[in-house]
Amino acid sequence: MRMKTCPRCEASIDDSARFCSQCGAPQTEEAAEELDEYVRQQAEQVAAESGGVRGDGGRSGGTGSGDVTTADVFGVAVEELTDREQLWRRGCYVVGYATVVVALTQITNPGAWFLLLGGIAILPPTRRLLGLPVGGTFKREAMAGLYVVFVALGAALFFVL
Ligand SMILES: [Zn+2]
Repeated sequence: MRMKTCPRCEASIDDSARFCSQCGAPQTEEAAEELDEYVRQQAEQVAAESGGVRGDGGRSGGTGSGDVTTADVFGVAVEELTDREQLWRRGCYVVGYATVVVALTQITNPGAWFLLLGGIAILPPTRRLLGLPVGGTFKREAMAGLYVVFVALGAALFFVL
């Protein structure tokens, strides 16, 4: 059995091997193309499963260049981690928890229960849970609206009682 050295990790591998047994680097042009194709298919599958609303992003299918970026594979995840989204989430946590804490200190008043609901509703995990049946996260505007309604109801009850 003839051996060769993997150009990537310098492991000694079988001369006929198409992929390195140590690091998985493709050893032939053919194997490299096969890997590219595989990665491209995975990326398309991920995009399709995440709703496929992004379109093909102007990528022409015939080139076969296979330069799949992280954004292609994890497009949705990356979008969710934009600065604005992060800021929004942090704000929701702060407002949500603050509302819940205030509600708990006033829990003897019926209005506190609405504050409690509003505080829970605006927390990002709740938004995601509510969004599950419709296949995504609930719209922020919807959660903010819900929060305002609950807090307004709670405040009204505080005022009346
Ligand atoms: Zn290797």
